[in-house]
Amino acid sequence: MGLQYALAGIMTMISDNLQAVQARIARACAACGRRPDEVSLLAVSKTFGTEAVLEAARAGQRAFGENYIQEAVEKIAALTRPNAPPLQWHCIGPIQSNKTQLVARHFQWAQTIDRLKIAQRLNDQRPPDLAALNVCIQVNADGGATKSGASPEDAVELALSVAKLPRLRLRGVMSIPDPLPDFDAQCAAHRRVREVFDAIAARLPAGCGKFDTLSLGMTADLEAAIHAGSTMVRVGSGIFGARHYAVQQT
Ligand SMILES: *Cc1c(COP(=O)(O)O)cnc(C)c1O
Repeated sequence: MGLQYALAGIMTMISDNLQAVQARIARACAACGRRPDEVSLLAVSKTFGTEAVLEAARAGQRAFGENYIQEAVEKIAALTRPNAPPLQWHCIGPIQSNKTQLVARHFQWAQTIDRLKIAQRLNDQRPPDLAALNVCIQVNADGGATKSGASPEDAVELALSVAKLPRLRLRGVMSIPDPLPDFDAQCAAHRRVREVFDAIAARLPAGCGKFDTLSLGMTADLEAAIHAGSTMVRVGSGIFGARHYAVQQT
């Protein structure tokens, strides 16, 4: 088989996979009495090249998530051209202080805010000609000490402080619960994150803008996440296939 045909095969696979994931989302919504348009799909394209992103974009996908900021910025630059569909980029990886400027300049969303210092830097570095940066508080609801994310106790105070920063728009909560094998255990873990979302929503002053995003659920557990109230599932391997990490990323 020639390279052209091999590539064509990969590309059909991405659009077929997108349809299959959309169907999973629709079924999961139907199963718990939610409308499918309550849940948006973030395509997680880390480690995949611009061709894969373009193919997903041709199939109608607009929102993409990236973990490694340097890799993401190169991809975003390559894909920002006249006549190309405008894509929306979400940073879903850890943000170190020395990377905040790149995030503030190149992304529309940063979902991994777990310290006020990072939020302040993003606020100060967001270019004035761009709309405010959409942000989510990353919550570590299962307590693993090595995981990123604010504790449920700290998340509320952090959110109230972030909501005051004028160049950020606090949109919600994001979490990566530990993988669990069965549906009920996944639902319980996701519900703990939902409770943090609700606790923040209850404390935000009126006029804060839309606090509407619960970013929860990946390829393996999106049904349970939707059951627990997710409004945005982040799906990588379910769309693009298995990832291969060629180099150690930081
Ligand atoms: C990689 C990643 C995903 C996607 O994971 P899959 O299991 O491939 O769907 C979602 N969210 C975050 C934060 C990730 O790092």
